[in-house]
Amino acid sequence: MYISTRGNSSERTGKEAIALGMVPNGGLFVPRIIPKINWQELKELNYSGLARKIIKLYLPELSDRTLDQAVGVYRPDLFDSENPAPLVQVGNLGILELWHGPTSAFKDMALQVLPHLLKESIQSIEEAEKVLILVATSGDTGKAALEGFRDVPGIEIAVFYPENGVSAVQERQMTTTEGKNTFVIAVKGNFDECQSKVKEIFGSKAMIDEFKKGKYVFSSANSINWGRLLPQIVYYFWAYAQAAACGKIQAGELINIVVPTGNFGNILAAYYAKEMGLPIKELICASNQNNVLSEFFQTGIYNRLRPFYLTTSPSMDILISSNFERFLYHMSDCDSEKVNLWFKELQSEGKFEVDSQTLAKAREYVKAGWANEDEVQATIHKTYDECGYVLDPHTAVAVKVCQEYFDTSGDSTYTIIASTASPFKFAGTVLRSIAPQQGTENEWESLERLSSLTGWAIPSGLQGLDQKTVNKTETTAPSEIPNLLTKLFL
Ligand SMILES: *Cc1c(COP(=O)(O)O)cnc(C)c1O
Repeated sequence: MYISTRGNSSERTGKEAIALGMVPNGGLFVPRIIPKINWQELKELNYSGLARKIIKLYLPELSDRTLDQAVGVYRPDLFDSENPAPLVQVGNLGILELWHGPTSAFKDMALQVLPHLLKESIQSIEEAEKVLILVATSGDTGKAALEGFRDVPGIEIAVFYPENGVSAVQERQMTTTEGKNTFVIAVKGNFDECQSKVKEIFGSKAMIDEFKKGKYVFSSANSINWGRLLPQIVYYFWAYAQAAACGKIQAGELINIVVPTGNFGNILAAYYAKEMGLPIKELICASNQNNVLSEFFQTGIYNRLRPFYLTTSPSMDILISSNFERFLYHMSDCDSEKVNLWFKELQSEGKFEVDSQTLAKAREYVKAGWANEDEVQATIHKTYDECGYVLDPHTAVAVKVCQEYFDTSGDSTYTIIASTASPFKFAGTVLRSIAPQQGTENEWESLERLSSLTGWAIPSGLQGLDQKTVNKTETTAPSEIPNLLTKLFL
C-alpha cells in the first residue's frame, strides 16, 4: 500500500497511486513498506524478467497481461540490443548506459513502461473516460513521454518546456512528434515555473472539477508519479549483476553509485534498490551549477532563493527537486508532520531547514557534490583523451563529482556512474569540449562532426531531425497554462 509523504491521504493501492500521479492535496505517494529481495535470486534473469519481478513486488494487483506488456518494451527494436542498459568499463569506472531507448536519454527506461501501467491503473479510479497527462520537462522527459504515450487510446498528453531552457536537439525532438493525442507547449519561464504550475493544476479543485465535466482526469508522467520511479529501480540491480558477471566485484561485495541529479528521481530509485537489499555502500548525488542539493547536504538548509543558471546540462537545471520530498520523508523516519511544515515553508518562504537528526541520516545515506561548467568541459575532454569514451554533459557532472569523492575520501570501492544521455543529444557542447577548434553554432552540423571525429554512430532517433516538419506549437506564459488547457481540451 502507498501513503502520502504529508499524511493527507488514506492508504492507496499502487494502481491508485499511479493513476493519481500525486496526492490530490499535495504530497507524494511512497510505499508504506519497502520489500526486501535477495539479489542472488535475480542474477539468472534477463532484463525483462528482472523488471517483471521487481514491478510485481510493488504492484501485486497488476494483471499478468499488463505486466507482460510493460516489461516487453525492453526489446532490441526499442532499446538497440538485447541488453537495454549495458555496463561499460571506462578507466576505473563502470558506466551504466541508460540511453539506448528511442529518445536517447534514460527517461525511456521508465516512460516506455508507464503507459502500460497507467492504462490499467486508470480503471481503478472513478468514471474517467479520458486521461490528460500533464508533463513539465527540463528537456528529456518531454520527448520520452510523448513517444511513450503517442496514439495510446483514451490518453492525451500535453508537454510544457521552458522556451529557452532546452537544447536545440531536445526542442526539435519534441516539436516534431507525430500522433494525434500529443501537444507541445513552450513556456516563457524556466523549468521550475513550468513544474510549479503543473503541480498547482493537479492540486486545483476548480481545474479538476472543470475537466471532470469534460470526462477527463489528470495524471502525471513526471517522476512525482510512482509509476516513473518503479521501473528505474530495476537497472541498479541489473548494473550490479553485470559487474558481478564480468568479475569487477565478488558476489555480495559493496558498490558505489553516482547519479547526475535534477529532480532526485533517478537517485531515489537507487535508494529504494539499496533499501531492498542491493549491496550499495555510497549513493552519490551529483549536481551542476544549480547546486541546491549539494548545499543542502552541507548545511541542512534547502534554499531555492538563488540565481538560476542555464547550464550545458539543462536536464539538471532545477531548483525545486520534487522527489527530495520523498527522500526527506524516509530520512525523517516517516514524519509526515515535519515534511508538511518543510514543504509549506519552501512554498511560502522559498527555503527550509531540517533538524539535525534528519540531516545526519540524510548525510549517512547520500554523499553530494557539484561540478561547474569548466569542470564539465574538462571532464568530457579528459575522458575522451584518456579512454576514448564520449560522455554527455550530465554524465560528465557525475564523473567529476565521483573523481572528487575518490580524492577526498580515499575510497576505492567499485563505482558505477548512471549515464543518463547519449552525447549526441548535446553534441555542440560535447564537440566543443573534445575538439574546441571543430565547434560550431550549428547543432545539426555538430552531430555529424562529433560522429566523424569519434566514430560513434548518431542514434537513429536523432538522425535527420533538422529535416523533419515542426508541428504547430503553442507558446504561453506560466500563468496562462490553465486557460490554454481549457482552450485545447474542453
Ligand atoms: C532527467 C535527467 C537527469 C536528472 O534526473 P532526475 O531523476 O530528475 O534527478 C539527468 N540527466 C539527464 C540527461 C536527464 O534527462
